[in-house]
Amino acid sequence: MCGIVGFTGKRDCIKILIDGLKALEYRGYDSAGIAVTLENGKIYTVKKQGRISNLEKETGKLSGNCGIGHTRWATHGSPSDRNSHPHTSGIFTVVHNGIIENFLDLKISLVNSGAFFTSDTDTEVIAHLLRKFYKGNFM
Ligand code: GLU
Repeated sequence: MCGIVGFTGKRDCIKILIDGLKALEYRGYDSAGIAVTLENGKIYTVKKQGRISNLEKETGKLSGNCGIGHTRWATHGSPSDRNSHPHTSGIFTVVHNGIIENFLDLKISLVNSGAFFTSDTDTEVIAHLLRKFYKGNFM
């Protein structure tokens, strides 16, 4: 099993996310990643196959108050940087643990309607579905 951590608040979240992922290391994982909303409003994602310490090398100078982190145990798509979470489509950046049983049907339908996939994961369909059906009110 693997894990998810999230933070939003007044404090800088990078170290909180990294420390949270480290606390979940015992559950096992093959890759890890974080996505953070930066002070300029842009979302910055860093994701790597292998140890959480690989992420720290690329997040040292970042800061932000809202973010998500993920450790992955691959079920769909090999362990790799490109298959690591988070996954993004448009304004949506997602992490997910588990399996989407009907992902292939969903993926075929999304590709046929113009979606461009950048990973082999089942998870990426969530980001594309949100992008496709979002009408301005998430709830
Ligand atoms: N099914 C997803 C993948 O292969 C999530 C695996 C997990 O639970 O970490 O990326």
